[in-house]
Amino acid sequence: MTKKIETNVEYDLICVGGGIMSATLALISKILQPELKVLIVERLDTVAQESSAAWNNAGTGHSALCELNYCPQEENGSVSIKKAIEICKQFEVSKQFWSFLVEEGLIDNPEDFIKNVPHHSWVTGKENSDYLEARFKAFKEHYLFDSIEFTRDIDKMKSWFPLIAEERSSEEEMAASRIERGAEVNYGNLTKQLFHILETKYNTPVHCNMEVQDVDPSPDIDWTVELKDLKTKEEHHIESKHVFIGAGGASLLLLQKVEIEEKEGYGGFPVSGEWLVCRNEAIIKQHNAKVYSKAGPNDPPMSTPHLDTRYIDGKRELLFGPFAGFSPKFLKEGSNFDLLKSIQFDNLSPMLGAFWHNLPLTKYLVEQVSMNHDDRMDELRKFYKNAKSEDWVLLVAGQRVQIIKKDEYEGGKLQFGTEVVSSKNGSITCLLGASPGASTATHVMMSVLEKAFPEILISEKGKQLLRKMLPMYNTELTKELFEVQLEKSKKALKL
Ligand SMILES: Cc1cc2nc3c(=O)[nH]c(=O)nc-3n(C[C@H](O)[C@H](O)[C@H](O)COP(=O)(O)OP(=O)(O)OC[C@H]3O[C@@H](n4cnc5c(N)ncnc54)[C@H](O)[C@@H]3O)c2cc1C
Repeated sequence: MTKKIETNVEYDLICVGGGIMSATLALISKILQPELKVLIVERLDTVAQESSAAWNNAGTGHSALCELNYCPQEENGSVSIKKAIEICKQFEVSKQFWSFLVEEGLIDNPEDFIKNVPHHSWVTGKENSDYLEARFKAFKEHYLFDSIEFTRDIDKMKSWFPLIAEERSSEEEMAASRIERGAEVNYGNLTKQLFHILETKYNTPVHCNMEVQDVDPSPDIDWTVELKDLKTKEEHHIESKHVFIGAGGASLLLLQKVEIEEKEGYGGFPVSGEWLVCRNEAIIKQHNAKVYSKAGPNDPPMSTPHLDTRYIDGKRELLFGPFAGFSPKFLKEGSNFDLLKSIQFDNLSPMLGAFWHNLPLTKYLVEQVSMNHDDRMDELRKFYKNAKSEDWVLLVAGQRVQIIKKDEYEGGKLQFGTEVVSSKNGSITCLLGASPGASTATHVMMSVLEKAFPEILISEKGKQLLRKMLPMYNTELTKELFEVQLEKSKKALKL
């Protein structure tokens, strides 16, 4: 029997959405202050079914070890690794949180959600190979990346990623780099485990089939959350001091209903993802790597093609993509009217400005949408020359809603990262955007906590717990601290 939702309780925090963000925020909050009354509501019949589901994302532990978009080339030819350092630290903070859960006995088998799969970058042509070498040299100088290897040698590449290197000779100009400690993460499994811990160890209810329809200011405490039980059609009004909108792509639609001025001017543009998934076991076995190449000159960063080993439902898989699709829905299980509904008076000008200044993105999307199976196979063959059409099938991944916001000069701009929008007092927080995504959930949710519950973070108990749980959070990172922590999480997560 499903438990009944408690409506006469005044909650401290209601998390909207059963994805990795709500799971992470709710669990960190409960660990820091177990007496908080927290409620999670999800509109689908189970958690982790949208972007956080294993097949709906690429499962990369984004730590800038292989993604070239975090290392732009400057005009003088040097490669900037500033953004890469930031992303790398954020993933290490996530690993620390998961390690803490293992060490506390809350997670038994980390291998159910995280595995070591080496991360590679691979490029062709002289200009790209020279860029990769410049990046390698910059990486070598920094302790976060100094284990990087670089090669232009085809035999070395054959040992790193044989499928890509086969049928190629030393005549072809190519270069590759490798960092052994890369991670493959099943964010879907992880999310389910986090909710399980919340329900069984922290007495935190997770209610599915419950759709949040609106969030209104409340005369008594801060917010009234209007919920609809999608099975019984019953409506509930529940009060909470804090609300976190972690509704993935649909966060924007909910934020637009909340009466706070900070929401003004935000819009969203949905881009769906698609993968080619290998169905030939003999081929899958020959690749044990994540191999990221370079996106086209005007293509968005999330279009970077990659050939990835995945571990899903206890099975090794091989996936290539992403290809972009267009759907006006903001969630995979969303409505065809989502995009239309999101266009309002206050974001019309930013939306038009962003559209006008991103015509190459529109061109890229039109090209992607018009691709058939043969065209996609041709893209795959740029990586793996011998790929056979009959071995690969197309699978639809999750929806990303890219942020559009006001811009002084261009009217509106399209942003590929994530952003936490909050009311002045932090009682309502909302996460927009989807990159780098699940990998940095701990870092992003700590920024939500800083806005919503600063008193917990500055309390002596809170500080002590945080030092134990996230030793790299808000600390000046040193080589020594990083190396000690890297070893610790390697052991805890069995990497
Ligand atoms: C194609 C693709 C590839 C990606 N690859 C990677 C990767 O390799 N590495 C990485 O780290 N990240 C990746 N990401 C990003 C990552 O998947 C997301 O950032 C992350 O899963 C978002 O988690 P979330 O909790 O915010 O949203 P979601 O997992 O989408 O969860 C939101 C939940 O809210 C629910 N919901 C929505 N509206 C309501 C409502 N009104 N009431 C109640 N519930 C509601 C939804 O049903 C859903 O379950 C990728 C994403 C995509 C689409």
